[in-house]
Amino acid sequence: MSSRAAAKPKPTDHQADRPARVLAWYDRHRRKLPWRAAAGELADPYRVWLSEIMLQQTTVRAVGPYFEKFVTRWPDVSALGRASLDDVLRMWAGLGYYSRARNLHACAVAVLRDHDGMFPDTEEGLRALPGIGPYTAAAIAAIAFDRCTMPVDGNIERVVSRLYAIEEPLPQAKPLIQQMAATLLGPSRAGDSAQALMDLGATICTPKKPACALCPLNDDCAARRRGDQETFPRKAPKKSGTLRRGAAFVVTRGGELLVRSRPDKGLLGGMTEVPGSEWHAGQQDDAALAQAPALKGVARWHRKAGVVSHVFTHFPLELVVYTASVPARTRAPDGMRWVPVATLDGEAFPNVMRKVIAHGLDL
Ligand code: SF4
Repeated sequence: MSSRAAAKPKPTDHQADRPARVLAWYDRHRRKLPWRAAAGELADPYRVWLSEIMLQQTTVRAVGPYFEKFVTRWPDVSALGRASLDDVLRMWAGLGYYSRARNLHACAVAVLRDHDGMFPDTEEGLRALPGIGPYTAAAIAAIAFDRCTMPVDGNIERVVSRLYAIEEPLPQAKPLIQQMAATLLGPSRAGDSAQALMDLGATICTPKKPACALCPLNDDCAARRRGDQETFPRKAPKKSGTLRRGAAFVVTRGGELLVRSRPDKGLLGGMTEVPGSEWHAGQQDDAALAQAPALKGVARWHRKAGVVSHVFTHFPLELVVYTASVPARTRAPDGMRWVPVATLDGEAFPNVMRKVIAHGLDL
């Protein structure tokens, strides 16, 4: 850590009215979001929770249609708690990071079973639920229950690190940013303060070309004064994972496709996939092909030109795709099943499998 990073910024008297300035800006410019309550009203904890889980690593634009589908089908947490995990995974398909969907369902079941269908109203109570970490607990507590706490998401991190020109890189800077963000809490409007900073980060203090002239904090923003706003927040260099390789087998039987379910635990747990090899760094094509499903009637596998590439959080993946078609009445190997190609949209395929199928079937 540099000596500059060690110096903790302190708010001055001049900065004491920052929360009020931010709230006044919010009252004029707040974003309209499907999960957000009208001005002056507390939000529905179910909608806040659902949106916060969906928004993890996903954009507001991508989440919107999924949020609407979920609340239409399951209008409250009790309804979601009574749904089957398969139905929830199917509805989630395409949003990525599938452990979130499994935790979402487990959380709804717990709220229904242990709390009579009512979310706990404290950070501590919320954190005891599946899939609710410190950030999500603080967001629900502030936005739905107006608890005096500041949830710090990526937008707020950016605003605060620029406002105080915090030199320490992420993720080490998180506790300091959290501490400084708390100085922006408005009295008795915790939820609005948090949402105001989120909106400020999303619409004004953007990663590139922040619109500082329109910002309610522009007269005392340290990074703006220095003119290097876009360089905050500082970030430690990224480690990219090692490339893994494997094979995927797209097998058709007339208008049907051979699929299986992934194990419940682990990456893409419980999702549907076409059969495939293990994914390893340095996996050789021959070794991957040797893991093809044993199917009567497959004389040879046809290798599709090119590869399917996908990037997971911790590693990039390349899959070689092999195709084959088998005669009618060919039995699916143990643990696999045939599904009509016409109904593939209803299956819980992760994005990587949608790419594989599109490549294999020339869709
Ligand atoms: S003045 Fe500019 S850099 Fe500073 S918080 Fe506002 S938008 Fe961000």
